[in-house]
Amino acid sequence: MRDNFGDAGGPIQVFYAPKDAARLPMISHAEGIYMWDTSGKRYIDASSGPVCSNLGHGNARVIAAMTEQATKVAFASRAFFENQANIDLSDLLAKLAGPGFERAFLVSGGSEAVEAALKLARQYAVANGQPERWKVLSRVPGYHGGTLGAVGITGDPQSEEIFAGIARVMPKVPAPITYRVPDGFDADSYVDHCADALEQAIVAEQPGTVLAFIMEPVGGLATGALVAPERYYNRVREICTRHGVILIYDEVMSGAGRTGKFLSAAHWPDAQPDIVTMAKGISSGYTPFGVVLASREMVDTLRESGGFLHGHTYSANPLSCAIGHAVLSELVERDLMANASRMGDILKARLEGLKLRNAHVGDVRGKGLLLAVEIVPDKNSDRTFAPDDHAINRVVDLARERGLMLYTRRTAEGRYGDWVMIAPPLIITEPQVGELVDLLEQSLAAFAEERAQSRQS
Ligand code: PMP
Repeated sequence: MRDNFGDAGGPIQVFYAPKDAARLPMISHAEGIYMWDTSGKRYIDASSGPVCSNLGHGNARVIAAMTEQATKVAFASRAFFENQANIDLSDLLAKLAGPGFERAFLVSGGSEAVEAALKLARQYAVANGQPERWKVLSRVPGYHGGTLGAVGITGDPQSEEIFAGIARVMPKVPAPITYRVPDGFDADSYVDHCADALEQAIVAEQPGTVLAFIMEPVGGLATGALVAPERYYNRVREICTRHGVILIYDEVMSGAGRTGKFLSAAHWPDAQPDIVTMAKGISSGYTPFGVVLASREMVDTLRESGGFLHGHTYSANPLSCAIGHAVLSELVERDLMANASRMGDILKARLEGLKLRNAHVGDVRGKGLLLAVEIVPDKNSDRTFAPDDHAINRVVDLARERGLMLYTRRTAEGRYGDWVMIAPPLIITEPQVGELVDLLEQSLAAFAEERAQSRQS
């Protein structure tokens, strides 16, 4: 069972880790891609925390913008005032996202963005005279957040078992995984199987009742940076259009330049979604923040029907907007999306090399600086680690000991596999990529050594 309740008096339970995981170090400070604990030990922030700190730490421009806005006014509710920071950020978002995404709704995180996207889709359907459309299809494995609406579309068996009832569990279709593809398929034919499964699910649910399909265009933690072959995206778009289903891309992790483009949707220009959710990199963790992007037409329809029935106290607050604007200005002016592409290619090539040298690296995948390394018991077999093995936590502990912070999660009791996210801040340089891979290689060599020894004893 996960336990995120910090308890300074007792053993502090670790994010997503079992109770016997190593005690976490106490953060002291951070700068660029590095973080220090209170004992003075330095770590590379190799996954940008939970793939969040896109700009790296201690960015002077963001800190200045934060200070300036907080000095002027930190909070002014949208119920009482317009604020310039909101207008400036919304304009910049529309410019970066491009045609079809002229409107931004600003929230406080990824799950909130997903909830708002679902409500936006639903209200749009109702406003268009289609109140019978309410079902939201999604993929397994996949992840869309921890709130109750998101739990219903996330496909985590443990959450579904506990929260079904208060969460409405929606129909799922398989994600087009590219590694450990089910028997009888190769990666290519599995794409068609998964696209066909989406169409069949829509038909089985009765097309007139299906509201939306949500997916991560580049996968996050749930799939370990899954990138499907191009045909998949085009087929999904075509199926959704044909059945009048709204296509939502969840770019909470993959957006804001991490894959080399502002929206990862831009990698598949013929398969543009109707709604996009973003968070994490949009504020680089300098404030809790999230965004829903939609077209002018969609939002106008809502306005004419009486307005969006949705809001939060902190929506579009001046402080978060000023921070978001400074983060995105840095992203553009320092050309960090191009750096994400360039460094991503170099990093991926280095990880592929590591795969050849280490018996436990089964797969390397992803796009730009959203990469994952899958760790397996034996790369000549299709096996995953046993659910009680905790091998991936051992990898994370060995890396932490060597000064490398890695983000991981055992997926659904090992059914889909185990991986670490390799997703450093977009400011990373080539020598720093080398430093990261060297530490990962040393950690995985220590892991291989331990496994070999335990086999002998
Ligand atoms: N969607 C995706 C794809 C995510 O990766 C996450 C967070 N990992 C969320 C939604 C939920 O975001 P948050 O944790 O900010 O609520």
